[in-house]
Amino acid sequence: MAIRPVIFADNPILRMKSKKVKRFGKALQVLIDDMVETMHSANGLGLAAPQVGVLQQVIIIQLPEDEEEPQSGKLFALCNPQIVRADGEEEGEEGCLCLPGYVGEVKRATSVIVKAQDRRGKKVRIKAEGFLARVFQHETDHINGILYIDRVESPDKFRRIVPPEEGEREVSKAEIPL
Ligand SMILES: [Zn+2]
Repeated sequence: MAIRPVIFADNPILRMKSKKVKRFGKALQVLIDDMVETMHSANGLGLAAPQVGVLQQVIIIQLPEDEEEPQSGKLFALCNPQIVRADGEEEGEEGCLCLPGYVGEVKRATSVIVKAQDRRGKKVRIKAEGFLARVFQHETDHINGILYIDRVESPDKFRRIVPPEEGEREVSKAEIPL
């Protein structure tokens, strides 16, 4: 397994649509394992393949069950995810590994049904609610070239949560379509 570099929000790859996974062979297994390791090393809750520069419809999600142990929750590794049903609406805070140090308020459905395939190609159907539903919507957006900042309704709903570190990229207003 290997940690792959996560690309920054202004990278055009993040604006492209990902291709459907058709082969569930070795290369996909390596990609998924690398994505899991990359997400864990960055303390992320979810990761989509375009974030590591791969335009394939693959997403990883793991919400901690126990706050003391970030890797304690159920791990979803899904290919070709599609939200087939979305109900309710709630505004909540989101961040993204492609935009470190920032969060925004985004309206999302409160419950979703996701159809996907697992890492071996088996069809799965998942019902998610609350924050898990939010993360599914965020990651599915990534494979369609959408970032959460596209869904932030006004500049006051987007903010920096940690001061920039030495040499770290700052986001200019021109890069954020607000
Ligand atoms: Zn993201």
